Amino acid sequence: MSGGGPVADVIVIGGGLVGAALAYGLSREGQAVTLLDEGDNAFRASRGNFGLVWVQGKGSRSPAYARWTRASADLWPAFATQLLEETAIDVGYRKPGGLTLCMSEAEMESRCTLLQGLRTSLHEYDFQMLDRLELRELLPAVGETVVGASFCPHDGHVSPLLLLRALHQAILDRVAYRPGEEVIAIERRDGLFHVRTRRGTRAAIQLVLAAGLGNAKLAPRVGLQAPVVPVRGQILVTERLQPFLPLPTMQVRQTEVGTVMLGDSHEEVGFDVSTTVAASRDITRRAIAQFPFLGDVQMIRTWGALRVMTADGLPIYEQSQTHPGAYIVTCHSGVTLAAVHAKQLAPAIARGDLPPELDAFCAERFEECHVVQAQ
Ligand SMILES: Cc1cc2nc3c(=O)[nH]c(=O)nc-3n(C[C@H](O)[C@H](O)[C@H](O)COP(=O)(O)OP(=O)(O)OC[C@H]3O[C@@H](n4cnc5c(N)ncnc54)[C@H](O)[C@@H]3O)c2cc1C
Repeated sequence: MSGGGPVADVIVIGGGLVGAALAYGLSREGQAVTLLDEGDNAFRASRGNFGLVWVQGKGSRSPAYARWTRASADLWPAFATQLLEETAIDVGYRKPGGLTLCMSEAEMESRCTLLQGLRTSLHEYDFQMLDRLELRELLPAVGETVVGASFCPHDGHVSPLLLLRALHQAILDRVAYRPGEEVIAIERRDGLFHVRTRRGTRAAIQLVLAAGLGNAKLAPRVGLQAPVVPVRGQILVTERLQPFLPLPTMQVRQTEVGTVMLGDSHEEVGFDVSTTVAASRDITRRAIAQFPFLGDVQMIRTWGALRVMTADGLPIYEQSQTHPGAYIVTCHSGVTLAAVHAKQLAPAIARGDLPPELDAFCAERFEECHVVQAQ
């Protein structure tokens, strides 16, 4: 604690997937890390997401984001193995590639144009368009109205809850984890960040804001901005079924234990995690069109969770100019990016400098007149 207590190298605020991956990566760099987390009552995207590690289509208007996402997908196999070795938790990561199903010829065409555009701008981009017959060979359960799909070999999926658990387990002995500590004030004094919660004040040389939607309030206290808003996503889960889906699609994926996740709505309804009949109806209707036999299975659970969204859908990574040593890290694909956060971003923060390829993710971009949707 400050005022005589130990000074950490880094305080990370937020123990969701972003903060936990960073705390994990920082501690592996030998940093003394304190992780302050408001806790289970807070809004937590990390506990309500779909579990895709997804590359295809990401960054169609931002090559930097497409490269960053791909870098994370490439790091994922070793990252999952490392977590397994350190914690004995198998996070269920699988990389069979992923499919985006298309329900009309027009959808097929626009999907192909989007992915071809990525191939042109990145010079190398692996994808394949599958027609109805090719798709049926891969997925015999697919519905008659599905016209085809795009396939990308770099896509995969994971159990997001096991991922969060493994990260927390891995840092248990290495990081001073403080749950139930909502940060209410931050001050910079004598070259240190003094971070106040209702239980006291802690000090550190560096500070990382990884508080999801909570970053919006915290960032201005250290000369940063985090214009993030909640976007609700509702998800449904079925009873356990025999394996029928060997690779995930963007909206339907079968988990390791056989349940099928059906996702997900995109709703701008503020800080409201309720579920609605209308969204459940739309989600199930679409899923049944894609896989008709799902009409006969039991739904066992549904929930709503809030995405942490910027206006262009891209992350914010930035070091404060007015408060050097303070960083903001926020993104809307914290599962996909967990590997690159732990293995590349955390070491960069430990060195005290973000690499130039992350310049594209400064919050300054929101000051420009036109913010376009990223994907
Ligand atoms: C429906 C849905 C589907 C999704 N699907 C996918 C997917 O398939 N693949 C993918 O990559 N991503 C997906 N995501 C996004 C992913 O879940 C998020 O990007 C990720 O969970 C964000 O993690 P986070 O740590 O930034 O935020 P959160 O999980 O929201 O965690 C923020 C943490 O900060 C803490 N906090 C907040 N304020 C304070 C404060 N003042 N002091 C201390 N602590 C504080 C909270 O307690 C919380 O623990 C999905 C999200 C949703 C909602």
